Amino acid sequence: MNSFLKDTARQILDSGRKLDELVIVLPNRRAGLFFTRHLGELIDQPVWMPEVRTIEQVFYGLAGNTPADELTLIFELYELYSQIQEEPEDFDRFYFWGELILKDFNDLDQFLAPAKTVYQNLAEIKEFESDLSFLTEDQKELISQFWLAFARQNESEKEKFLRFWQILGRLYSDFQHRLRTVGMAYSGQLYRQVVENLQQVEKPWKHFIFVGFNAFTLAEEKLIKHFVKEFGAEVYWDLDAFYLEDKLQEAGLFFRDYQKDPVLGKTFPKVIPDEIRHKSDRIKTHSIPLKTNQANLVGKILEEIGEKEPLEETVIVLPDEQLLFPVLHMLPPQIDKLNVTMGYPIRNAPIYAFLDGVLDLQRFVKVRDGKTSFYHKPVTDLLSFPYLKSENPQHAQEVLDSIRANNLLDVPQEMLVKGNSIFGLVFRKVEAEEIFDYLGNLIQYLAKAYHDDEIQRSYLFQAFKQLNRIRDVFQSKSSKGLRMDFVLKLFRQIFRELKLPFEGEPLQGLQLMGVLESRNLDFRRVIICDVNEGSFPPGGGINSMIPFNLRRAFGLPVQEQNDAIYAYTFYRLLHRTEEVHLIYTTSSDQGKAGEMSRFIQQMHAELGIAKPEVAMVPVDLTPSAPISVEKTRAVTESLKLYLRKNDPNAFPKAKALSASAINSYLDCRLRFYFRYVAGLKEKEEVVTGIDPSTFGTILHSAMEFLYEIGEGNASRKIDTHGIERLKPQVPAAVDRAIRKFYNKEENEELELSGQLQIVREIFVKYLGAILDYDQKNGDFEVIGLEKEYPSGIAVETSEGVAEVVLGGVIDRMDVKEGVIRLIDYKTGKDTKNVKSIASLFDRDDKNRNKAAMQTMLYAHFYETGHPENQLPLKPGIFNIKEIYNPQFNPFLKLEGDEIADYRRFAEEFRTGLSGLLSEMFDPTRPFDQTEKVEKCTYCAYKEICGR
Ligand code: SF4
Repeated sequence: MNSFLKDTARQILDSGRKLDELVIVLPNRRAGLFFTRHLGELIDQPVWMPEVRTIEQVFYGLAGNTPADELTLIFELYELYSQIQEEPEDFDRFYFWGELILKDFNDLDQFLAPAKTVYQNLAEIKEFESDLSFLTEDQKELISQFWLAFARQNESEKEKFLRFWQILGRLYSDFQHRLRTVGMAYSGQLYRQVVENLQQVEKPWKHFIFVGFNAFTLAEEKLIKHFVKEFGAEVYWDLDAFYLEDKLQEAGLFFRDYQKDPVLGKTFPKVIPDEIRHKSDRIKTHSIPLKTNQANLVGKILEEIGEKEPLEETVIVLPDEQLLFPVLHMLPPQIDKLNVTMGYPIRNAPIYAFLDGVLDLQRFVKVRDGKTSFYHKPVTDLLSFPYLKSENPQHAQEVLDSIRANNLLDVPQEMLVKGNSIFGLVFRKVEAEEIFDYLGNLIQYLAKAYHDDEIQRSYLFQAFKQLNRIRDVFQSKSSKGLRMDFVLKLFRQIFRELKLPFEGEPLQGLQLMGVLESRNLDFRRVIICDVNEGSFPPGGGINSMIPFNLRRAFGLPVQEQNDAIYAYTFYRLLHRTEEVHLIYTTSSDQGKAGEMSRFIQQMHAELGIAKPEVAMVPVDLTPSAPISVEKTRAVTESLKLYLRKNDPNAFPKAKALSASAINSYLDCRLRFYFRYVAGLKEKEEVVTGIDPSTFGTILHSAMEFLYEIGEGNASRKIDTHGIERLKPQVPAAVDRAIRKFYNKEENEELELSGQLQIVREIFVKYLGAILDYDQKNGDFEVIGLEKEYPSGIAVETSEGVAEVVLGGVIDRMDVKEGVIRLIDYKTGKDTKNVKSIASLFDRDDKNRNKAAMQTMLYAHFYETGHPENQLPLKPGIFNIKEIYNPQFNPFLKLEGDEIADYRRFAEEFRTGLSGLLSEMFDPTRPFDQTEKVEKCTYCAYKEICGR
């Protein structure tokens, strides 16, 4: 197939000029590479090739300098800024502004705008107006519109803007001066310098040919015109009549101006190519519901590539780099060669998250008594990271389990380091000055470990390069007093914006590239994804600190020019193609509406292309099949672990059915199976915040500490005076409970997070309220606190009667006026009303009282544990939130009457329980899903069930 670059190469050859006396100037390096290849294909004998340069190289060559690294420039800018600004922010906060200011300076210079005038002090408005005599009336009108809008702003806003504006003006001139003094420059500065000295540029002995340009900066335009006018340079334009002749077509915006220009106009071809207008039947548009579905469609289109067809004649253009990996995963097997040419944001690469985690780790290192420990959060994140996990999965898992099991907030270093491995490299404390060595060593270690993984290697290489870049800048500046926080913020700022330049072998295989990378190139088959408004062309406007009207007035590019550049990039891809697929999505994504791009709309209206084909993505709408686990032999064997006869002497908690297990079985048989038979545990995490279960645990143990029964005693009498003495001890009991929960030593200092400090006060208040209630209700004798009660019940099974092991922990047992009270502390608002004993076992009753079921079970546990007992058993629930109510009554009520003695209902309760457990052990009764889907809302297994 023919392409613009190939045609141009042929025309240059045909012109008979000596190739080694030519300089071919192209917009970018990639275009140069393709041009050289095409030229080589047309030559059949060894010759000297022409010099191929980018326009930037021409400018830098004439200026005799190249721009400094952006980070260095922003540092220089910051140093000046700190001298001008009274209270400058830290560098990491300035970095973002620094980038923006530098970009504006570049624009001002590349478009040769009078920077001093742009940043004029608004206070001198009169003087300012007289300075504008060189502007047209339209430009002046734009500026006065800006001032009018500005005048309407409130005074403090105006003042802030003015102050900043004045700083920018000073910064610009001081920055020029400073850079010149130290021999540095930024790109725009060099461009302006070249253009200001154009008359001194000597006639080059080589002939210059400018190829494939569209939108020049003013500096480029001046230089090219100078070369054309003074040195006879040539220009080859890549354009089409479709957008050039239509004054409303944004793609032709720049060309129409150049065509009218007395110098450039003469370089336009006599006959303007008119290809696009004949392409309507080759352009297919596809609408697809979801963004990622585009990858499937691309894969399908690629399946049609014939065996003999050269892969490099097909391009996939991705306006959004996030589609890169989905597309790569959907490539059909016949794609055996591929070239990716695009920037991929490093923040999406695993190395970014890893280095970020490592820096986070270093922020929270503690050294106490010579022992180092790390905060659990970054530790658990890092241990779950493939870089560590793949090296020693067992060690990583063991440490993770131990952190969770012991609720370790700080993880000791010796627990993490293992042999001579990455664990030792990561888990060590480093000072801020050593941070670059630390990160560098890690990257180098990983580069060795991932030597065979090309993509990982590429990430690591780029990360290493960028790290060295930051290190160099820091070393050239003072790195004294470098703070870890600062390094972390700076790392995030710089790395967030970085893109990994994927650049493979551009001349071979299927081509996958970003929009701007496709400039100047032609392909037989073009597939463009994300042809949505907001993606192609991209929305978002120009990022600049110079207001729109001022940008416009001073000839700096605004959104209109940006749109025109993208429009040209789009239509240019259609010049020589034979097959085009434009894919857009109909659902909104990341704030972008699911609307087809204006380019597609234009082509519908102007070229009459066919309506979009709706690509159907198969969606499975059939509800997931019900899950039902039959009681196979294996399942029955697991279930039997809850039978006493398997281990008559033991009461292992893990093998006793708790009140929660029984409630769970009543809620959903399958949930019970997952949790208590199959052992699918819900994910456990280290608890730092206060969730309801943490709250309950701390509250229970604080109460236990307060009413603690002395060693060797069976009970403890508590009277009103005793409670009075206990009240001042409440805060200490709460602290002790918090320490216990977080595995802290008795005397270890308690550093409470903000949330915990607030919750601590609530604990103190609640405990005080319990003491008040107890004090008000008279003396009692505590006979047990947080005590485990093993229990059981005889159940009819297929193998005869067996005893099911039950058990649980009763929060508090006391004796008051000859009644044993079995008290459960609850943080919720559970009701005490029980409709009937049978209702406790009725899984269809949506108001089934689970808290009452639990307390009744405790009474059953107590009764079986104390067959000798003669005292009434009274189950009660202390709902902490209700305890302030003067009418508060903790005891269960059946049909309105207080349950004064469980024993009266024990028979009925046991029958219900035994019936329920018989069903549980019935081999013909599967563990099936609940029909009440509302029970699935907070179920940990709902993803398995698809509910
Ligand atoms: S999601 Fe629903 S059906 Fe599935 S286990 Fe949980 S409660 Fe049962």
